[in-house]
Amino acid sequence: MMVKEYLPSRHLVARLDKGLDLVEQITDLASGARIESATFMVIGALGQAELSYYDQEKKEYHNFGVDGPMELVSCNGNVSIRDSRPFVHAHAVLSDLRGNVVGGHLIKALVFAAELYLIELSGEKLVREFDAETGLYLWRLH
Ligand code: ZN
Repeated sequence: MMVKEYLPSRHLVARLDKGLDLVEQITDLASGARIESATFMVIGALGQAELSYYDQEKKEYHNFGVDGPMELVSCNGNVSIRDSRPFVHAHAVLSDLRGNVVGGHLIKALVFAAELYLIELSGEKLVREFDAETGLYLWRLH
């Protein structure tokens, strides 16, 4: 395990815009506020969404669409730097009108209403780099 210590910095609360993509809005917020490291959570309601599943054997993502409207039961994620710019990594659990849930790595989601709580982390820049063993861009913590 690799560990690096950070301290909480700014806490941002945002109401995301209806009709725009959730991941893009958080990415834009991070860019605009010069946030390079953060953790966040979002709850709300969504229209169409696209989730993904990472096939660990083939080392590739398999995207799948989810038809809205759906509740955004839980969305957790983080912001770090990939290719010199803020990169949002988020996972989401969505539910339908019967409470059935589907979840995965969040690619995009049309916001109906969404409340974001983001905590900026202050410390050394948190950067992602390609990891050949997993095929993923993971945090460089050494
Ligand atoms: Zn993921």
